[in-house]
Amino acid sequence: ASSRNDRDREVNIQVMLRCRPLTDEEQRLNVQKVVSCNEQKNEVTVLQSLVNRQLDKTFTFDKIFGSKVQQRSVYDHAIAPIVNDVLEGFNCTVFAYGQTGTGKTYTMEGGMKHKGGDLSSDAGVIPRAVRHIFDTLEAQKADYNMKVTFLELYNEEITDLLAPEDHTRFTEDRQRRPISLMEDGKGGAVIRGLEEVAVYSANEIYKLLEHGSARRRTADTLLNKQSSRSHSVFSITIHVKEVARGNEELIKCGRLHLVDLAGSENISRSGSREVRLLTLLNLLGTEGLNVDSSSNAMFPPKDAIHYSLNESMNGCHQLYTPVLKILETNRDSKLTRLLRESLGGKAKTCFIATVSPSIHCLDETLSTLDYAYRAK
Ligand code: ADP
Ligand code: MG
Repeated sequence: ASSRNDRDREVNIQVMLRCRPLTDEEQRLNVQKVVSCNEQKNEVTVLQSLVNRQLDKTFTFDKIFGSKVQQRSVYDHAIAPIVNDVLEGFNCTVFAYGQTGTGKTYTMEGGMKHKGGDLSSDAGVIPRAVRHIFDTLEAQKADYNMKVTFLELYNEEITDLLAPEDHTRFTEDRQRRPISLMEDGKGGAVIRGLEEVAVYSANEIYKLLEHGSARRRTADTLLNKQSSRSHSVFSITIHVKEVARGNEELIKCGRLHLVDLAGSENISRSGSREVRLLTLLNLLGTEGLNVDSSSNAMFPPKDAIHYSLNESMNGCHQLYTPVLKILETNRDSKLTRLLRESLGGKAKTCFIATVSPSIHCLDETLSTLDYAYRAK
C-alpha cells in the first residue's frame, strides 16, 4: 500500500467533481434530477434506474462539490493549495472537463463584474487565483513580477485573446491571427507572437480577462459555437526575487495554467489502455516518473515502461488519471505540447469534472464520470 501512496504523490493529481444546479428554465420545466452527491463520502451516484432497468452507479472522487457549493468554497478547497505551491515556485495546472453547458466556464471564469477591485460572489477560479496571488505577494512585500497570457486553441490553431485589437482594420482575420508554437529544445514549448502582458494589479487582470472572455463569446456567435470545440488556457507566470543567506539573490519562478477544455462531447476518448499508458510514459519522460522520493530506486527509468505494462490493474489506475488520458490520446496536439513542462514530476494538477443533474444529460454524465473517476 505504501508504494501506491508514493506513486500518488509523484503523480500529484487531484480529481474533483462539480455538479451544477438545475437552471431556472430546467426548474420551470420540472426536469428530473438523476445525479446525487454525497459530499461526506466524496461519492456521486447516477440514478439510472429512474430511466432504464440498469442499476444506479456510484463513483468516488477526491472531492465532490454538490449543486449548492459556492464559487468561494470551490476555490478554497480545490485551488488555494495549488496556488500556494505556484507561489513557492512550482508549475501547476487546473483543468475543467465536462459536457458543454455543465459549468466549465462558470467554474473557471464565473461572473466577470468586479466592482472597484472587489470580487463578486460568483467570480470563478481565475479572478480568485489572481486576487490570492497579489494579496500574498503584497503582504510579503515581495519583489515580484507577474505576466499573463490568455489563448484559445481551436483546430490546432492558437488565437491570442489578449492581442491588441487593430481598430483601423477590424476584421476577423486581423483580430484572430494564428500563432505558432515552437519547441524550446529543453522539453518545453514557447509560443511565438503571443501577447505576454505584465500586470501590476488584480484589477488590471480582471479587465484583461473580461476583455479576452468577451472576445471568445463574440467569436462564438460568429463561428458557430466555437467555444464548445475549443480549449482556452489562461496562464500566470510569477517571478519572485528572494535574498538568501549571504546576500545571494534567488529568483523563484512559478507558473499556473488554468484550462477550460473543449466540451467533453468533442474530445477524443479512444485508444486502448496499454497504448495510452505507453504514450503517457513517453509524454512525461523519465522525470515525470522518477522524482526524488524513496520509491525511486524501485523504478529505474529504463524499466519504467516495462514495469507499467506488466503491473497489476491497481497499479495502472494510479497512473491512469483523466488528465493524462486526454494528453495521451492527443499527445501531438498543441495543448499537450504547451502544458508538457507543467505536468508530471512535482507539478500539481487539479482536474475538475463538471456535470449537469438533468435526466436529459444522463448519457454524457455517465461518460464524464466513467472517464474522470479515480479508482480507490
Ligand atoms: P460550459 O462552459 O461547461 O459550457 P457554462 O459555464 O457556460 O458551461 O454554464 C452553463 C450555464 O450554467 C451558465 O448559465 C452558468 O452560469 C450556469 N452554471 C454553471 N454552473 C453553475 C453553478 N455551479 N451554479 C450556478 N450556475 C451555474
Ligand atoms: Mg464554456
